Amino acid sequence: MYWDRSTETMERDTLESLQLERLKKTVEAASRSEFYKDRFSSNNFDPAGISSLDDIRRIPFTTKDDLRESWPYGCVAVPKDRLVRLHSSSGTTGRATVIFHTAHDLDAWTDILARAMYMTGMRESDVFQNMMTYGLFTGGLGFHYAAERIGALTIPAGAGNSKRQIQLMKDFDTTVIHIIPSYALHLTEVFEEVGVDPRKDTSLRIAFLGAEPHSEKTRQKIQEYYGVDAFNSYGLSEMNGPGVAFECPEKQGMHIWEDNYFVEIIDPDTLEPVREGDEGELVLTTLRREGMPILRYRTKDLTRFVPGPCSCGRTHRRISRITGRTDDMLILKGVNIFPIQIEKKLMEIPGVGNNFLIILEREGYNDLMIVRVEVLREFFSGNLKQLEQLRRKITEELRSDILITPRVELVEPNTLPKTEGKAVRVIDNRKD
Ligand code: AMP
Ligand code: ZN
Repeated sequence: MYWDRSTETMERDTLESLQLERLKKTVEAASRSEFYKDRFSSNNFDPAGISSLDDIRRIPFTTKDDLRESWPYGCVAVPKDRLVRLHSSSGTTGRATVIFHTAHDLDAWTDILARAMYMTGMRESDVFQNMMTYGLFTGGLGFHYAAERIGALTIPAGAGNSKRQIQLMKDFDTTVIHIIPSYALHLTEVFEEVGVDPRKDTSLRIAFLGAEPHSEKTRQKIQEYYGVDAFNSYGLSEMNGPGVAFECPEKQGMHIWEDNYFVEIIDPDTLEPVREGDEGELVLTTLRREGMPILRYRTKDLTRFVPGPCSCGRTHRRISRITGRTDDMLILKGVNIFPIQIEKKLMEIPGVGNNFLIILEREGYNDLMIVRVEVLREFFSGNLKQLEQLRRKITEELRSDILITPRVELVEPNTLPKTEGKAVRVIDNRKD
């Protein structure tokens, strides 16, 4: 039942000593990177001065902007020839943040993700179909190598191509899938279309749902339709990717592997820790990464600690389902999108007016982004062809930037609602 019993069930004080030992090493390693060297000296922080876990609070936070500004190699703490792979965050908000790994880092990541998958009941006899994008995104290769480490037959199916996904499931008796929850809902329509009932016609038994927020209701729908046991998988590329926190069979929160990550939950305004059990922003520190250690990373994800020990016997603390973000990042079909990206792109296109609105809808099982754009009055003078050309141009420009095809609707100037103060740019009507 355990992949690594002694680590997973380690007494808290032993676990904390291990964390302290690894934190000291991590801080020392970080000080060899250009970025942290500067950060430490400008904050008068002595990297040798960590003598308790509480001392972590003397280290300044790291943000996504810090990573962007130190792009590409500013946070790398080892000679470049020791790096063997890079990954980046999904979405294309400006310059994607890039994370570099040594062979040791990849090995440790694979191990904790295998630990998580094993925890849910996956074994070497399983057939694992990974329905995530392979490439820079961490959900592809990350899960792939972890599944192989468990010894399961691993199908690198990649994302999309729904009919082929179903065919693969049937042909090779797939038992475990890794899938984006919104895609899992969409795929139910394709199952209907091809007349395959996953409960009767496939051997599916476990699903890992990750990469985007989803509700308990969505999990239940997926469990019911597919006839699987579905587990929430949380991660972010800055902290390797998947494997950071994962549900055990109790499904009362996700265990964070604290031998690999130091966890804090802070009030995003005061930056002080919240009271145990209160909601706040998750802040993570890598404890085992040598290529690119990251200290006190502000994930912007909101969650809380689930109090008390878990009845599964694992001692690593749990966090609740992610309830939102402190910034305005949207996640659509697993792709991260910031409204500012859309604004920037729109404003570059001649003919676009002053206001726009993003509306997210769920159509059947599909998530849809509608971008309603005010355009100059002259486009409404009767030449419909010109208007349609502009609509196509906007659609194409946005698609190439955010990687998702929005439904673009053009409206006359001054027709979109105006708000006093901060503009409301996004209306999210996606409900379960
Ligand atoms: P990326 O770095 O591109 O993998 O994106 C990471 C972000 O995706 C996280 O910071 C979360 O906002 C979101 N995310 C990933 N997994 C989950 C999950 N299981 N539940 C909610 N949000 C998630
Ligand atoms: Zn548990």
